[in-house]
Amino acid sequence: MINIPKGTKDVLPCDSYKWHYIENNAKEVAKLFNVKEIRTPVFEHTEVFLRGVGDTTDIVNKEMYTFLDKGNRSITLKPEGTAGVARSFIENGLANNPQPTKMYYITPVFRYERPQAGRLREHHQFGVEFYGSEEASLDAELICLAKTLLNRLKINDLVLNINSIGCKECRGKYNEALKEYYREYLNDMCPTCKERFEKNPLRILDCKEEKCTLINEKAPVILDYICDSCKSHFEKLQELLKVQDIDFKINPRIVRGLDYYSKTVFEFVSFTIGAKGTVCGGGRYDGLVSLLQGKDTPAVGFGMGIERVMLQMEASNIIIPKEDDLTVYIINADENSFSVCVNLCNSLRLNGITADIDHLKRSVKSNFKYANKIEAKFVIVIGEEEIKNKKVKIKNMSNSTEEEVELDSLIKYLMEKQGELK
Ligand code: ATP
Ligand code: MG
Repeated sequence: MINIPKGTKDVLPCDSYKWHYIENNAKEVAKLFNVKEIRTPVFEHTEVFLRGVGDTTDIVNKEMYTFLDKGNRSITLKPEGTAGVARSFIENGLANNPQPTKMYYITPVFRYERPQAGRLREHHQFGVEFYGSEEASLDAELICLAKTLLNRLKINDLVLNINSIGCKECRGKYNEALKEYYREYLNDMCPTCKERFEKNPLRILDCKEEKCTLINEKAPVILDYICDSCKSHFEKLQELLKVQDIDFKINPRIVRGLDYYSKTVFEFVSFTIGAKGTVCGGGRYDGLVSLLQGKDTPAVGFGMGIERVMLQMEASNIIIPKEDDLTVYIINADENSFSVCVNLCNSLRLNGITADIDHLKRSVKSNFKYANKIEAKFVIVIGEEEIKNKKVKIKNMSNSTEEEVELDSLIKYLMEKQGELK
């Protein structure tokens, strides 16, 4: 038997309704916020991520699925959604449209990580990206969108952490302060953080190794280093979150794992799905578009892990409603009636009625058992007599009652019944 690759998961037919539910809610919320879908390829030239995500990040250093294609080009499977969208924004000249440009995506994401609960090698993200304004109101609206979706899914127990990591200038000063602080602990830190110390000390704050997190506790706090303009941006964000009744906690320790962030960073964190508790993370990345050689355009976005949303819903015992089952199952009483059943089944479907038919030449009795198992709401048996009289008996499977209906008015009858089921 050939097995599925480590860290990946099948979504089986019996579970796909859960995915539809979350994705449909995401799409509906996006629509309410006037956000349009963007689809970019599952793979990009590796350079998009080297530049866009940054070569001091875990994603680029350790987690990318990179390979040479047959034309010797270095290709990478999306390790996150933002850089590809930025590439597309630039390539398609979307900066020339009236701004802001509000986009969302639902995409698979590939990261070579050690698989565990909530950490997969292929996971899925609902992501939202707002381009074209540096106003804090855009950050607040983005966070509100994430919150609206979580509320709709009845996920009410996440904590929203927010922070500002300032602009380039504030971060320069802060990085100096961090270096001064960490210098004396260098020997006690993990090898990756030693490297981060040289290249990008801010990243040390994001380390998940216990010995580093202990050292991090007393590290200088970015909010003491941000300039007046970044400070008032952060204050405006807080004011606008309050206006929308969104609770938050200021957490000066969150810096996010990607290099492209500036000013606002935020995370929705869970305490019930273990250490892998970040369900949604995002922030502002005003420098990304120019980093990818586009016209300087401010932007803010988030990525929400769909698998983690699901884990959270399971942990909170939130039941996802099942999709409508089969309205009617048609059984042919004898072989000669089969083609009439096929024809009827087709016209029901053409009229929007969910219908199915036997493909295993079962007896009438075992067809009834089957209809029960697949939870058909109604069953019709058609044989010579029904064809001759142009009348059928419809059995309601939930209460075993039967009604006789003229073949000519069957569609109308079932359309009404199906409407009542919804
Ligand atoms: P973490 O700190 O858990 O490694 P991250 O900072 O790497 O997360 P992001 O790059 O911000 O995560 O991705 C956005 C969201 O995607 C995360 O908040 C999380 O919900 C989800 N996510 C990230 N990596 C994985 C993964 N390997 N498996 C499942 N979901 C993931
Ligand atoms: Mg990660």
